Amino acid sequence: MKTIGLLGGMSWESTELYYRWINEEVKKRLGGLHSAKIIMVSVDFQEIEELQHNNEWQKAGQVLAKASQQIEVAGADFLLICTNTMHKVAPQVEEAISIPLLHLADATAARIKQAGMHKVGLLGTNFTMEGNFYKGRLEELHGLEVIVPAAEDRQLVHQVIYDELCLGQVVDSSRNEYLRIIDEMHVQGAEGVIEGCTEIVMLVKQEHTSVPLFDTTIIHAQEAVNLALGSEALLIDS
Ligand code: GLU
Repeated sequence: MKTIGLLGGMSWESTELYYRWINEEVKKRLGGLHSAKIIMVSVDFQEIEELQHNNEWQKAGQVLAKASQQIEVAGADFLLICTNTMHKVAPQVEEAISIPLLHLADATAARIKQAGMHKVGLLGTNFTMEGNFYKGRLEELHGLEVIVPAAEDRQLVHQVIYDELCLGQVVDSSRNEYLRIIDEMHVQGAEGVIEGCTEIVMLVKQEHTSVPLFDTTIIHAQEAVNLALGSEALLIDS
């Protein structure tokens, strides 16, 4: 079994889910007392959030690059950045380490294509919905068509992430707003919707809507286990 590197804390509310879901997946596949080999470095999200909103991405990238080096030195075989937004600095992180990065947008695109879909909606922070690093990667590298909500709704989605979800608050009225936005994107032709922020699954789960959802937290966690188990996983499945 390979050792999974987790760069977490953005926010810890979702990193907790990664830790649980990776371990549950390993237990499901290998049985017994098996659990995942994980090395995690968890950053202080207040520091990261301030750098994001002050547009100091280079500095934020340095913090993440340093944390990633600590994960590599500690013995991880590959790395997950446990947030969609901070994939904005993925190139800076990749430059700093020699272990591979399991890119969240790539794992998500693979799932969407597996489901036979082409046009999807994207929910996430404004950085994720508006920047080229994520939406652009889905479109240009993976050939998907990606739509996002209108500006006012993007702001709502963004605020709920920082003011509620990253603080562990799950608010019914916010869920209703998210469901409205998901429905609107569906009407605009989105065959499914990417929950492109690792905390959104705390608020909107598949049981809340008939629109197919792509939850990036579980996708990333499952892909990490696929990579960690390699042929062991194939042996168990066969
Ligand atoms: N975890 C969130 C994401 O997946 C947002 C927090 C952050 O800005 O990193 O984008």
